[in-house]
Amino acid sequence: MIIKPDASSRNLIGEIIRRIEQSGFVIRAMRLETLSPDRAKAFYAVHKERPFYESLCRFMSSGPIVPMVLEKENAVDNLRTLIGATNPKEAACGTLRYDLAVDVEKNSVHASDSPENARKEIAFFFEGIDLD
Ligand code: UDP
Ligand code: MG
Repeated sequence: MIIKPDASSRNLIGEIIRRIEQSGFVIRAMRLETLSPDRAKAFYAVHKERPFYESLCRFMSSGPIVPMVLEKENAVDNLRTLIGATNPKEAACGTLRYDLAVDVEKNSVHASDSPENARKEIAFFFEGIDLD
């Protein structure tokens, strides 16, 4: 998971971590980092043909983010449920994005969408980490 710049700039890092821990996730690694524009582009390379890509990469490099490694049974599905739909207007009541997100771009958090991508994204932010 990543806490995005719109959340860090509104002092919501603690609130998001509180919700994550309360939902039973264990934080295995965490860091504060500001992405360079090139690093943001690399992270979101899968979206490079999408119309929102340039703006998304500018936003993601606009301030501090908090990448973290979370552990839980069925973590990917559980976390996607906890954060809600990409667009906060479509997110279920009580989800993190429903409660905290600004709009479809500034939606406060990123969560991996599969175990395979989670593995890649963990390697992107925590090179050489051993999670066994
Ligand atoms: N995004 C955007 N406009 C859109 C769709 C997505 O700005 O119409 C941004 C948003 O920040 C989103 C990110 O691009 O979180 C990645 O999009 P994806 O479809 O992977 O959504 P997610 O997996 O984050 O829910
Ligand atoms: Mg995604």
